[in-house]
Amino acid sequence: MKKFCVTACLSLFAILAIAQIDAKLKLKLDQQVKELEPKIVEWRRYFHEHPELSNREEKTGERIANQLKALGLDVQYPVAKTGVVAILKGSKPGPVIALRADIDALPVTERNSLPFASKVKVPFNGQETGVMHACGHDAHMAILLATAEILSKNKSELKGTVKFIFQPAEEGAPVSDGVSGG
Ligand SMILES: [Zn+2]
Repeated sequence: MKKFCVTACLSLFAILAIAQIDAKLKLKLDQQVKELEPKIVEWRRYFHEHPELSNREEKTGERIANQLKALGLDVQYPVAKTGVVAILKGSKPGPVIALRADIDALPVTERNSLPFASKVKVPFNGQETGVMHACGHDAHMAILLATAEILSKNKSELKGTVKFIFQPAEEGAPVSDGVSGG
């Protein structure tokens, strides 16, 4: 749980370094990240429980797109089949930067009894295969959504534009019935 907050904080710090924010704003942002932490954990567990293979990330992409639209971002969906690109324009002039998360899962069967463990099985290379976020993309998505939410809340302070890219099929080249690799 702490890991997500730390990583979310790290992405924010990257933005903040560019934005050259003052100490008071930094404290406010730290507080907002802390308050958002239970939601970040919930999002990550949702994605973990509902993994989708490369180029099949329909539900994942849709959920991300809806969540970003609700924040008022300029959302393009679908991009490259199931991907999402969202743009947040800050109120102050500055550079354009991109932040990326990958959204696909692997043909791996999860073997544990966590309440949010994946029970998903799909046809893959001619047989039923388990699907799992075994590479951390569930966490990447939750962290980038959190970053989008915090920056949206503070867009009056944001110098420049942030492009959020949720990339499908990171685990392998697009093929018709799934991919291998990692
Ligand atoms: Zn990966």
